[in-house]
Amino acid sequence: MKVLGIDVGGSGIKGAPVDLETGALIKKRFRLETPQPATPEAVSGTIGAVIKHFNWKEKIGVGFPAAIKHGIVSTAANIDDSWIGVNITKLINNQTNCDTHAVNDADAAGMAELSYGSARRETGVVMVITVGTGLGTALFSNGVLVPNTELGHILIHNMDAELYASDAVRKKGELSWKKWAKRFNEYLFEMEKLIWPDLIIIGGGISKKKEKFFPFLSTRAKITTAKLQNEAGIIGAALSVYID
Ligand code: BGC
Repeated sequence: MKVLGIDVGGSGIKGAPVDLETGALIKKRFRLETPQPATPEAVSGTIGAVIKHFNWKEKIGVGFPAAIKHGIVSTAANIDDSWIGVNITKLINNQTNCDTHAVNDADAAGMAELSYGSARRETGVVMVITVGTGLGTALFSNGVLVPNTELGHILIHNMDAELYASDAVRKKGELSWKKWAKRFNEYLFEMEKLIWPDLIIIGGGISKKKEKFFPFLSTRAKITTAKLQNEAGIIGAALSVYID
């Protein structure tokens, strides 16, 4: 089975057709800048351009940075507020004529890691944390997802955690890796207190730079980086069409 996976991020919208037997990308991924402001019209237009690039007419899965309940976008931390209440599935379906399924982006990345990546056949409680413009979380117990956990928004020092420890904050504040890692470690400490995971997987662009920040982390749970790195979002979005 082949599905076009699309990952909508704060800075880029990326897509590629995925072979669901193996989790591999069938063609080179295609990326366009996320339009600003990232309104429903503008973003769905860019999604349309990605679909056109691949001349795709079949099923598509979209990973989106928000809580999504029955196709409806329900939060807007890093996207335009006008998304709230929009049925993203219908919007893209109508615009592209492709059968569409939408899922939270971190849940998508988590599903990909569980099926093809670092948490393959892993039992127990697995937490996937994507670190990028925001902090996304996906939580699994014995392989079953609890969707839309949104644990990147717990409070640390009375501050939304993603405004304290995301990769965007590291870059914007020009924090050293050590300084940022200390913040991220605080976040992990809070997560461990609440969730008690057996395994933590760090995803997002930062997963390619493990050596820069892993030496500063100390967790009770096993911790590793996403095997599929930045492609987990695309692969998981495609996969979600069948398992979400
Ligand atoms: C959003 C989440 C998303 C995460 C990563 C957060 O701001 O609330 O839904 O998973 O960013 O993109």
